[in-house]
Amino acid sequence: MAASLRRYFFCTKRFTNVSSIHTHVTTRRISGSSARMGSRAPVGFIGLGNMGGFMAKNLLKQGYPLIAFDVYPESLIEIQELGASIANNPAEVAEKVDKIVTMLPSSPNVIDVYLGNTGILKNVNPGTLLIDSSTIDPAVAKQVSAAAEKKGAIMLDAPVSGGINSAREATLTFMVGGKEEEFRAAKDILDCMGKNVVNTGPVGTGQAAKICNNMMLAISMIGCSETMNLGMRLGLDPKMLASIMNTSSGRSWASEVYNPVPGVLDNVPSSNDYQGGFGTALMTKDLSLAQTAATATSTATPLGSLAHQLYRVMCNRGLGNKDFSIAFQFLKEQTEV
Ligand code: NAD
Repeated sequence: MAASLRRYFFCTKRFTNVSSIHTHVTTRRISGSSARMGSRAPVGFIGLGNMGGFMAKNLLKQGYPLIAFDVYPESLIEIQELGASIANNPAEVAEKVDKIVTMLPSSPNVIDVYLGNTGILKNVNPGTLLIDSSTIDPAVAKQVSAAAEKKGAIMLDAPVSGGINSAREATLTFMVGGKEEEFRAAKDILDCMGKNVVNTGPVGTGQAAKICNNMMLAISMIGCSETMNLGMRLGLDPKMLASIMNTSSGRSWASEVYNPVPGVLDNVPSSNDYQGGFGTALMTKDLSLAQTAATATSTATPLGSLAHQLYRVMCNRGLGNKDFSIAFQFLKEQTEV
């Protein structure tokens, strides 16, 4: 199993013995001097995976000293080499800083990191600004934000769109749920990691915007994939078909920027054996969040529901670690069967 897939499934479990995991890496633990280095106040960063690793590096580049934590020790090696201090758990991060960014796989991880036995809220200082950029259930974002408020802290949901390249290049879009003045307080930090930072309304609306966008993305990726497959079976050249769609009414982000057929575009996952990019397992999680929200609000989302089922089948077929444009390959194989 590839490392990132192993990490994804590993991380969706709850952790009971984080300190023993950490004994396997030699880490520079927090010291007062490293926490105070630089002219800017240190920022805490929890969850240094595919996205968070680049985001944390961009904060360091902009002069923010970092205090980092991740349950997966390998994730911390590079950031430590770049000068970050490493904490033993989220509570220890919270003790040392008054701003924390979290970038975790899914809702259970966010609950663990904020509300767990060694979670942020065990030690949070009143007035601390907590920014969660994970894609999670809007209801969980509201629940954690309410718990933070009881401790005198502020928690905003700030999920991102844009993949690993945008995280690396600091061009992410942040959809931020929270009050206007809290949004303004978070903006300096978010501007170091993204180029579009939008206040979507109260807490939870950042997640709402994110899961709606991703439901549309999943549906359009499947639509583009089945259309390209049909065209190719009718004898059309895929590059020619894509160029016709992209100058006609069938155009979409999936067809134009992220075409799922290998060889139509360079530098996209489909032309690299569907590696890198946005994992099918993560897309399946986002579709599940959209379905939960649709059920909670009695909203009809027939195509979102069908897309969710298809992506679940792809995961069951062992494609969870492939980029979500693998939908093309999956549908092509169904046709051939
Ligand atoms: P990832 O699995 O690569 O990274 C998550 C990190 O969180 C891992 O390093 C993991 O060890 C750490 N983690 C998990 N549980 C933890 C805990 N209890 N305490 C501390 N650390 C913990 O995931 P990613 O691709 O970086 O995605 C992060 C979030 O961003 C997800 O919610 C995803 O849906 C969203 N997102 C991802 C992309 C993308 O292209 N990868 C794009 C947009 C949004």
